[in-house]
Amino acid sequence: MSFTLAIVGRPNVGKSTLFNRLVGKRLALVDDQPGVTRDLREGQGRLGDLRFIVVDSAGLEIAEDDSLQGRMRRLTERAVDEADVCLFVIDARVGVTAADEYFAEILRKRAKHVILAANKAEGRAGESGAMEAYALGLGEPLRLSAEHGEGMDDLYRALLPLAEVFEAQNIQQAPETDVDVSEDDDDEAEDWRPSAAKPLQVAVIGRPNAGKSTLINKILGEDRLLTGPEAGITRDSISVSTDFMGTPIRIFDTAGMRKKARVTDKVEKLSVADGLRAVRFAEVVVVLLDVGIPFEQQDLRIADFAETEGRAVVIAANKWDLEEEKPQKLNELREAFERLLPQLKGAPLVTVSARTGKGLDRLHNAILKAHEVWNRRVPTARLNQWLSAMTEAHPPPAPGGRRIRLRYMTQIKTRPPAFVVMATHTDKLPDSYQRYLVNGLRADFDMPGTPIRLTFRDQG
Ligand code: GDP
Ligand code: GDP
Repeated sequence: MSFTLAIVGRPNVGKSTLFNRLVGKRLALVDDQPGVTRDLREGQGRLGDLRFIVVDSAGLEIAEDDSLQGRMRRLTERAVDEADVCLFVIDARVGVTAADEYFAEILRKRAKHVILAANKAEGRAGESGAMEAYALGLGEPLRLSAEHGEGMDDLYRALLPLAEVFEAQNIQQAPETDVDVSEDDDDEAEDWRPSAAKPLQVAVIGRPNAGKSTLINKILGEDRLLTGPEAGITRDSISVSTDFMGTPIRIFDTAGMRKKARVTDKVEKLSVADGLRAVRFAEVVVVLLDVGIPFEQQDLRIADFAETEGRAVVIAANKWDLEEEKPQKLNELREAFERLLPQLKGAPLVTVSARTGKGLDRLHNAILKAHEVWNRRVPTARLNQWLSAMTEAHPPPAPGGRRIRLRYMTQIKTRPPAFVVMATHTDKLPDSYQRYLVNGLRADFDMPGTPIRLTFRDQG
């Protein structure tokens, strides 16, 4: 389990001092890694029982020279983009400067998660500077003294909920590896460093005879390229890479698996197990229904499992060519979908004919859309504006006269989107209020159909 923490801020606020404190002597070897330059110092950080990668964007002086400033901005942006969490450092003795505001702006626009720290706050020296930092709109500043090692427990407490969620997400996605994070490209590392050229991973699942093989063959067309068993996937599963209307995708061929399984006479058992396995490896799960017998128990189970696993889901009703009363049938499907799978409200529902190929463009668009929503990232600042509007419109209850305060929130992960709200008395927060927030997130940030994770962190 690991995550990447970038230390960001203008020169001289104490980034290197903090970096050295977190990393100690454990500097990583970054030299030969493609995409990792020496401009950003990287090391293995340790704080209590937490292990993470620390990236230091220090050593970048603001020069008179414009191009250097541009270079600094680009490096900071890169550090921010690559990091799971940004530790934004200001100098508590100096207070908030124009340069700090400039960095704050970058973070509000790009950072997945920001922890704000007012450094050099030993003694009482940094009191007013730390207060000023609230105005940056990046949450409550931690008071640190990198030089004297003060405030490290607060930093630990700020990182812990994030680390827990990263870990939970990670367990779902990949088996745990050793805490020593090597730069080797294992499955886990891939998760943390999104690369643009990766094919989109799709699984087509559904009951026997829904038309999975027919659909996959249609998508593959003439361009069938069997890549054989992929690393990390058990040997009897097969994935196929292809170009689907201009999108590189990799399909987990559960149909192929089942046909293979038939030889060993364990059809039913294997088809379900393999379907579930395919869900685990897919980014987007296409639940293929036979329009003649849609939303049967097995379909519902698979769709629900995909949601629980946090996958993006597309429902595709196949054999649409056989349907005579199309508009009426479509209404029926929509109604059944809403009633039977409320947890996937808003997920795309498309009709296709695997046999004729009609509707494959709709399926393609739906897959892209679901994938995009699944990857959605909401900037911290917008979330916090949203949270105060939501709590103003409908304040949380005050059990026993003590109001539950939802103080601020941030998105800690995508794929699927996961948020954490820092709050008081979270144990008293009713489920209905949590649903209010989740539904609000869905509606206000355009995240239909994707699983949304919302956790609360109690601040006493
Ligand atoms: P960077 O440019 O952001 O990497 O900042 P440095 O880590 O190089 O620190 C800049 C200066 O601030 C150095 O002189 C440090 O010794 C000093 N400094 C760093 N942390 C603290 C702190 O917690 N308290 C005080 N008083 N000085 C600090
Ligand atoms: P699988 O078990 O899910 O892989 O299903 P198959 O691809 O083997 O298809 C099961 C049966 O449904 C076959 O007879 C297919 O020809 C038929 N089928 C698949 N897709 C369609 C379709 O879009 N329209 C029609 N009419 N039949 C289809």
